[in-house]
Amino acid sequence: KLHNTIQELKGNIRVFCRVRPCLPSDGEQENIYSYPDIDQKKISLTKPLSFNETAINETLRKTEKFDFSFDKVFDQSSGQSDIFEEISQLVQSALDGYNVCIFAYGQTGSGKTYTMQGPDMPTDSSQGVIPRSIAQIFQSASQLEHMGWKYTIEASFLEIYNEKIFDLLGNPGKPEKHEIQTASGDVVVTNLTIVNVGHPAQVKGLMETAVKNRHVAETMLNAKSSRSHSVFTLKIKGVNSTTSETCAGKLHLVDLAGSERLKESKAEGERLKETCCINTSLSALGNVIMSLAAKKSHVPFRDSKLTYLLQNSLGGNSKTLMFINVSPREEHFSESINSLRFATKVN
Ligand code: ADP
Ligand code: MG
Repeated sequence: KLHNTIQELKGNIRVFCRVRPCLPSDGEQENIYSYPDIDQKKISLTKPLSFNETAINETLRKTEKFDFSFDKVFDQSSGQSDIFEEISQLVQSALDGYNVCIFAYGQTGSGKTYTMQGPDMPTDSSQGVIPRSIAQIFQSASQLEHMGWKYTIEASFLEIYNEKIFDLLGNPGKPEKHEIQTASGDVVVTNLTIVNVGHPAQVKGLMETAVKNRHVAETMLNAKSSRSHSVFTLKIKGVNSTTSETCAGKLHLVDLAGSERLKESKAEGERLKETCCINTSLSALGNVIMSLAAKKSHVPFRDSKLTYLLQNSLGGNSKTLMFINVSPREEHFSESINSLRFATKVN
């Protein structure tokens, strides 16, 4: 069971759950979630009255209540700052030379992008993990300058769609071909735009470029961003002029493709191929995390572009956090159960 091993590895792999609040577009919803402990580690789902009994899954049909526990559960009332408060230490460790991965996993509409990036037009208080992480890294870096540390921070932003890499910071009129290569222990993506970030305000421009590029790519491919994984990476290198110490860390912030299953999206043709790739790469990620947690000698990093790209930032000395995002909608009940199970039982 992944869950037991996750507990053993505490500090290296953590799983948080977040339930998004009801939106006006959700209409009236029965509340199916409860949080049965004060430590905010447990979440319980009650099968909605409206649940379709013809659903094929036996356990879903027979069981009325479903309990899950996580390292932390964020209920509908949790705000972006509550979330960041819990992860700021982890983000900080990228400055201390760790490789850190933060994922958002869940079906389309469950709040992954909101958690990682924020809403389309963010205010200071609704900003997500990416802008908050950048602000914190710059702030800490400038504080550490007094102790002789000087940092260089490089940003890249890419998207993996149908096992192909797209540069979100590149020139959309001139798409390049990208390969993942490993050179002297480091993972490099060829022809990828790397931006030397000197000031956190610069990152806002990068985000805007990424949004534009994603739109261009979507139109060209007739695709939707919910079908792709987006990976924002900060590469941080520090040199201490007094002690000559050096350190190098990475922070990957990953908005995963929607985890919804094939049968619900009624995929055909091109869409079918997409959904297959997404399922393959999400289960490849699950298998890699499982293998690492179980300390297996073979970890199948090569099974997907995403895990191959992140091979040096998963396991070993690196730190991983996964958000399981779930929707409050009754009709999403079985997808929510699937997402919550992903962390405890991978396939
Ligand atoms: P996903 O990326 O998983 O498809 P989104 O992040 O786009 O989902 O969320 C779907 C909708 O719900 C968006 O309109 C988003 O702004 C809104 N939303 C998600 N989470 C929250 C939250 N915690 N508070 C307020 N609105 C949210
Ligand atoms: Mg999204």
